[in-house]
Amino acid sequence: MAPIELDVSPAQVERIEAVARFARERLSPGARERDARGEFSRALWDEAARFGLAGLPIPETWGGSGLDAVETMQVVETLGRTCEDGGLVFSLCAHMFASAVPIWRSKDAKQQGLYLADIAAGSLLCANGTTEPEAGSDIYAMKATARRVGDDYILDGTKCFITNAPVADLFLIYAKTDPSAGFLGISAFLLPRATAGLRVVPEHHKSGLRTSPWGTIYLEDCKVPVTARMGPEGAGAALFGESMIWERCCLFAYYVGAMERSLRRCIEYARDRKQFGKPIGKNQSIANRIVDMKIRLETCRLLLYRAGELHRQGRRCEDAVAMCKLWISECAVASGLDAIQIFGGTGVVTDAGVDALLRDAVPAQVFSGTSEMQRMIIARTLGVG
Ligand SMILES: Cc1cc2nc3c(=O)[nH]c(=O)nc-3n(C[C@H](O)[C@H](O)[C@H](O)COP(=O)(O)OP(=O)(O)OC[C@H]3O[C@@H](n4cnc5c(N)ncnc54)[C@H](O)[C@@H]3O)c2cc1C
Repeated sequence: MAPIELDVSPAQVERIEAVARFARERLSPGARERDARGEFSRALWDEAARFGLAGLPIPETWGGSGLDAVETMQVVETLGRTCEDGGLVFSLCAHMFASAVPIWRSKDAKQQGLYLADIAAGSLLCANGTTEPEAGSDIYAMKATARRVGDDYILDGTKCFITNAPVADLFLIYAKTDPSAGFLGISAFLLPRATAGLRVVPEHHKSGLRTSPWGTIYLEDCKVPVTARMGPEGAGAALFGESMIWERCCLFAYYVGAMERSLRRCIEYARDRKQFGKPIGKNQSIANRIVDMKIRLETCRLLLYRAGELHRQGRRCEDAVAMCKLWISECAVASGLDAIQIFGGTGVVTDAGVDALLRDAVPAQVFSGTSEMQRMIIARTLGVG
């Protein structure tokens, strides 16, 4: 089934159906148990990667699928509809959009030659380290430094809440090469896990996206050759910004699919579950919750594919992407709450999985730039704020 009443080519429909089959048959079984244990499965990661889910937007030259933003969204939305392992999809998306995309977009042929094919194949699992204990939303206040000493850089700093860090093979680290230059003072570095002076400590378990591991990265007198730098000095912030545009639209397609999955379940339950001698859906207050879930789903989908289309055409899309990220994450939380209310007590039974949408959606209002930061971007483009 086509995910939206936009033009979807036969090849795209075929891809969507293949992804749906794969996700249902291979990724979803056991997802609730892994979620309860907070367990990342490298074996499933490898299987998803072999299927092609680790390199969707990466050009075919490096073994990726070469999908544009709209096609990437179609695949990720399909995963939302069919894959119950939200954490695994989140880890794949963080790897693709916040690590693989900036390496591809850096046009740094040396780094691309070294890593990109293995990243697109998923055999090199990536993490991106931007956030610090004192620099979250205010990312340009980062304190991590990279001091040039001859043919080396010495990196020092701490990066926290880093998705995939405990299992990553390669780290994309943003650090200041010129602390006085603001945006232009940040550079990007690629560090293999074995780099001396790089240490990862896993973070506490999350309430949602529990199968996606995260951790803190400590960089202490971490000496890397100049060749570890990606792109020119000072290019880091621009690369990070471009990666966030990809992440804010394409990753959030997952939540659109997950909202549809939850809506279907709620409709079925509201028809089957009887109280006072009739299906609960016959009560207008329950039916209206379902109507609101449907309207949220459809408005999210329109904003999603509008942002994707603008991005695909290479047009300015920062505000469209911010609206898409903001609206989808907030609607997913609202619909997650509605789903729990419709299911009553069953809604909060972890094994039933009804609460997964809410638990997975709450962090979505924070990562890739908080709702407040997205509102700031939109206000700025409106000439206020
Ligand atoms: C599940 C998850 C995965 C993540 N993965 C990664 C990763 O892979 N790599 C990485 O680098 N980071 C990652 N992060 C970190 C994420 O990017 C930050 O949590 C986020 O940017 C917010 O920073 P903070 O947590 O320090 O909150 P803060 O910036 O301290 O914000 C706290 C609150 O204050 C608000 N606030 C701050 N400034 C303003 C302002 N000027 N106006 C109005 N409100 C404001 C915020 O919106 C928020 O509500 C992840 C986070 C989560 C939750």
